Amino acid sequence: MDVIYSKQEIAHLPYRNSSLNIEKRVEDLFKRLTLDEKIRLLSGHRVFNTAPIKRVGLERLRMTDGPFGVSMHSSGLSKNTRFPSTKALAASWNRDLAKDLGIAIAEEVRALGRHILLSPGINIDRTPLNGRTFEYFGEDPYLVKELAIPFVKGVQDQHVGACVKHYVANNQEVLRKVINAEIDERTLHEIYLRAFEEVIKDANPYSVMTCFNKVNGTYGSDHQYLLKEILYEKWGFEGFVVSDWGATNHEELTTKSCLRAGLSLEMPSGKKYTKKLLHESLSNGEIKEEWIDNAVRRILLIAGKTGVFNDPETLPVGSRNTPEHQFLAREVAEEGMVLLKNNGILPLDIESISSIAVLGPNSNRKFGKLLYGGSSAVKSPYEVTPLEGIKNYIPPEVKITQDPSKTDIALLFLGLNHDKAGGRREFVIGSMRKNNKEIRHGFDSEGADRAELELPKSQIDLIKSTVKQNPNTVVVLINGSPLGMKDWLEKVPAVLEAWYGGMEAGNAIARVLFGDVNPSGKLPITFPNLLSDSPAHNSQRSYPGDLDELKVSYDEGIYIGYRHFEKFDINPLFPFGFGLSYTTFSYDNLSLDKSVLNGLNDSLYLSVELKNTGDRSGAEIIQVYAHHTNPKVDRPLKELVGFEKVYLKSKEKKTVKIRINGKDLAYYDVEIHDWKLDAGEIKLLIGSSSQDIYLEQMISYS
Ligand code: BGC
Repeated sequence: MDVIYSKQEIAHLPYRNSSLNIEKRVEDLFKRLTLDEKIRLLSGHRVFNTAPIKRVGLERLRMTDGPFGVSMHSSGLSKNTRFPSTKALAASWNRDLAKDLGIAIAEEVRALGRHILLSPGINIDRTPLNGRTFEYFGEDPYLVKELAIPFVKGVQDQHVGACVKHYVANNQEVLRKVINAEIDERTLHEIYLRAFEEVIKDANPYSVMTCFNKVNGTYGSDHQYLLKEILYEKWGFEGFVVSDWGATNHEELTTKSCLRAGLSLEMPSGKKYTKKLLHESLSNGEIKEEWIDNAVRRILLIAGKTGVFNDPETLPVGSRNTPEHQFLAREVAEEGMVLLKNNGILPLDIESISSIAVLGPNSNRKFGKLLYGGSSAVKSPYEVTPLEGIKNYIPPEVKITQDPSKTDIALLFLGLNHDKAGGRREFVIGSMRKNNKEIRHGFDSEGADRAELELPKSQIDLIKSTVKQNPNTVVVLINGSPLGMKDWLEKVPAVLEAWYGGMEAGNAIARVLFGDVNPSGKLPITFPNLLSDSPAHNSQRSYPGDLDELKVSYDEGIYIGYRHFEKFDINPLFPFGFGLSYTTFSYDNLSLDKSVLNGLNDSLYLSVELKNTGDRSGAEIIQVYAHHTNPKVDRPLKELVGFEKVYLKSKEKKTVKIRINGKDLAYYDVEIHDWKLDAGEIKLLIGSSSQDIYLEQMISYS
């Protein structure tokens, strides 16, 4: 008979003693569990939790979505802060802000008594059509890891576990549950695994979520190479691996294949890790008990680290939807906005304006609804729409109308929307693609990709008719993925990319339009002129893939995003790293602390003197790209290897130091199955975008 503990006895079990080290506590609890209790811990309980083991007093490990705050569907609550989408954070290129955001979201997770935040999503943007682009950081692995690392650290500083997802190559939503991504080894490591590798090594996230799709023929949840060999053995990942919700629902996946590969926790409920199947597999010798033990230990370790073993009364209480969080939401929205075009009309001068036309489908739209956009949806206690933000900002005598012909200015709020994601819709979209049926257009949402690069036609018509009536028309875009602008960009004097800006979006937009905030965001993803210019859109094979064979071929290899545009000399609409300001900057006096790097672990500092030459305060993002002058292997013409965001008052100048790491200059060598940097010369290109380069400096590697 297993011991039944009384409440008092449980309170005194060593695993409940927070003065002991975590490994001891885990071992104490582990040795008290029966095989069936261990099995019970391997799969989900009520969609977002692990099962409690009451006999030993073990509480549930509780998880919640998602990247922009605590979502309603996984918390049951609708009054959590809705922060801006990850794309907005990424466009800020601000590491400190990423950390602050991680801390704030984790405080909300704490306040709700949860332990794991199912975030960040760090998949690389391969196609502008991916329905989840708004949830991801961008197209460049260096930028993604530089922002995801502080985010994860911020989350985990609060003793909340981060869960990096979706491991790996979940880069399209079309048939995401079945599609097989075919990727060569170098591309897989250099582009798609790189941010995962760096985040795991540097920030030690407590969990990793598998992808739905297959990678080179095997589903993410039973992928021996990706889980056992790379994640655990090569990178030394200590946390647990959780399946994406329902990702194990395929016949090809078995109890044995998942457990042997290293899937620790099956969510939302047991399909392969049921009591019956695990016992059967044990008795016929297909699986070893130590595989179960290993998975259980990983889950317990993280449960221990996130406070599940402690008396909840003794845990930090966290905080939810505080003025500080609302302020941070506005700050991220402001810092992430990217000014794409400006003939001088912005910032608007409120003193000289007596009437404004506010138009467009996104002018008064709220985006935070239950499951809108999918699992990342956060329903907040309020959401300031652009119209409300403008009204909050302007004095009462300024008139707002809907007739652009009679106003000083017309503000057009356009872009995309979210849609309710769901399994059925996913299926419908998948089969519609397959049968070449017309797909509803204009949404950034989980479960479905966009159908076109351009704005919906009604919006393009609205731009044209508005500009005809009022040449002072400013377009503000609210969306999470690149948009084409070929039919209308020339016609409008200014375009501001505002992304999905969270619950304070309207206030943030008004402050940028009227110049209280000088825009400083830079694109974390290339905006192409035409969809066919994009690397994944060379053929149906490469996107959306062969829909009969259910496979998508990553034919473009490492040439993703600006790497592709540079290589083939294709002019994008707006390049990676691009963004205007209301002020101007000059770059001078480049110097290095040394010019030769020794070994991948070596680094050097580059210094640049940056001056704000305009008459407004503002921030610049200095970017450093590496160009290998005579590489032994094929290398992209430019690769981001450093950046720094710098705030300067008008006429102020600063010497800015930027660190360049040997590892960030390396490529993945398929001969040695590892990172390598060949001896040779590297030109560092310093500028304000991937295409605006002002200074150059040679360094070498020996
Ligand atoms: C999504 C994940 C999410 C999970 C739980 C899945 O459909 O792909 O990102 O965390 O659901 O809601």
